[in-house]
Amino acid sequence: MEFDLNRDPSPLAARSYDVCVVGGGPAGLTVARELAAAGQSVALLEAGGLERTDASQAIYQGKETGLKTWNAIETCRLRYFGGTSNHWSGQCGVFEPSDFAAVRHHDLPGWPIERQELMVHLPQAMNILDLGTGDFNPRPIIASKPSRFVTPVMRLSPPTRFGVKYHKELSESRRIDLYLNANLLDMRVEPQAGGAPRVTSGTVRNYAGAKVAVKANRFVLAMGAIENARLLLNCNGQVPAGIGNESDFVGRCFMEHLNVQVGRFVVRDRAFFKVNPGVMYPSQQLIKQHRMGGGVLALAPDYMPPEYTGHLGKVKEFLRDETCRFESVREYARKFADFNCDGEGVITSLIEQAPDRNSRVTLNGDVDAFGQRRAHLHWVINHADRRTIRTLALELAQELLMLDVARVKLARYITDPEREIDLINHCHQMGTTRMSSNPKDGVVDRNCKVHTVGNLYIAGSSVFPTGGGINPTLTVVMQSLRLGQHLAATV
Ligand SMILES: Cc1cc2nc3c(=O)[nH]c(=O)nc-3n(C[C@H](O)[C@H](O)[C@H](O)COP(=O)(O)OP(=O)(O)OC[C@H]3O[C@@H](n4cnc5c(N)ncnc54)[C@H](O)[C@@H]3O)c2cc1C
Repeated sequence: MEFDLNRDPSPLAARSYDVCVVGGGPAGLTVARELAAAGQSVALLEAGGLERTDASQAIYQGKETGLKTWNAIETCRLRYFGGTSNHWSGQCGVFEPSDFAAVRHHDLPGWPIERQELMVHLPQAMNILDLGTGDFNPRPIIASKPSRFVTPVMRLSPPTRFGVKYHKELSESRRIDLYLNANLLDMRVEPQAGGAPRVTSGTVRNYAGAKVAVKANRFVLAMGAIENARLLLNCNGQVPAGIGNESDFVGRCFMEHLNVQVGRFVVRDRAFFKVNPGVMYPSQQLIKQHRMGGGVLALAPDYMPPEYTGHLGKVKEFLRDETCRFESVREYARKFADFNCDGEGVITSLIEQAPDRNSRVTLNGDVDAFGQRRAHLHWVINHADRRTIRTLALELAQELLMLDVARVKLARYITDPEREIDLINHCHQMGTTRMSSNPKDGVVDRNCKVHTVGNLYIAGSSVFPTGGGINPTLTVVMQSLRLGQHLAATV
């Protein structure tokens, strides 16, 4: 069933549910559907409506310091049914075995679960994301030659818009009640005799000023990495540091994937780029040898970029070709505009960031339209990240030389350690309620339950203790399936 809280809050007030899931993005929808399939009654609270509104989106505004981003706090998130999947790009891959290894390149523990505990959910997750069939086993770069890099298998989701795909199913569901325009603002925690305190209800507001309580046996927060942390920190009426924050890790270890242009390349072997997508990932052995993070490095030789089409295409193509013929002219022209000549391009990347306590989400002094303190994102990288970036770039340049497929000119900030690396984010927000086996190292346990609360769970990439060097959403969906099945099996 579907209810619009803006029209009538009474149905939510009248019922009590097995589980209340908060957030209608990929994580929340996957948990809710899995619970419904197991016969559980679910209240699914979605802060927005079926379309984007300024009133809802404005709640995401906040403050940013540290590294520059594409205004990540607001533009990297969408606050309506379907969540950020309403504008994601659909690139999917799986985390590598090294992401789950016991020995890490930083001082915090990694995943407390085995990779296989997520991978068993891969076929179902691929179905949800409309990825077809096939494996994700990395391929050798050149079958006949040993290499220290591999070609990772990336698959493209259409991209699946979760709100569009699942709206009919949810609005007709007998197990799930979808509440639109339902903003969770606070949770009431009560002590239990002989056990951890439990959430007994949540405070929900619509945009017309009505306030209503949601009641359920268990609660799952699935609002995205910044918002999961912000909500827990804002729940400070009973616990001043916020719910689940005994370890002081709520909001800490915010991670992104580092988007660095590591250099330029010139193709040596055109035949290679006709059969290979030009996407490289360090081998497991290379990661282990350097004790560094992983990352995707992509080379796309720009044989005919789109700007050379259209009415003036021929003229533009002529000017480019003439400029490219002479190195000195080319270098001079690039002082005004970056462009690619035939058979060359920039090496782009998506690189793992190590968890760092100082990279974090806190609350700032401003409040939103509901009186909730807004988020402050302070995003920083550290020595381990710079080392990963530079090592990956240098190793790749050497490897391409050895394989004789391309020559690389690395960016000055790669070769000169005195320069700060120019980078930006990928809109992959992770890590702010990290998973840990020991409560002192994180916020949730191996089953995504908040360590210090008996019935509060978290879904989505905020629980990632490390973020790998691969796009996160396929892993978010696998991990949400795992959580849904765990909740269904432990009623
Ligand atoms: C431009 C862009 C491109 C991307 N491309 C890729 C890609 O190619 N591959 C990839 O793997 N990932 C990609 N991503 C990341 C991907 O979108 C996220 O990993 C994914 O959406 C996370 O799902 P989620 O359900 O955890 O969070 P979200 O999708 O953000 O959903 C959170 C939901 O919670 C709701 N909510 C928030 N606050 C409240 C509240 N107080 N009460 C009730 N509900 C609330 C929101 O309205 C929203 O519906 C991209 C992201 C962006 C921005």
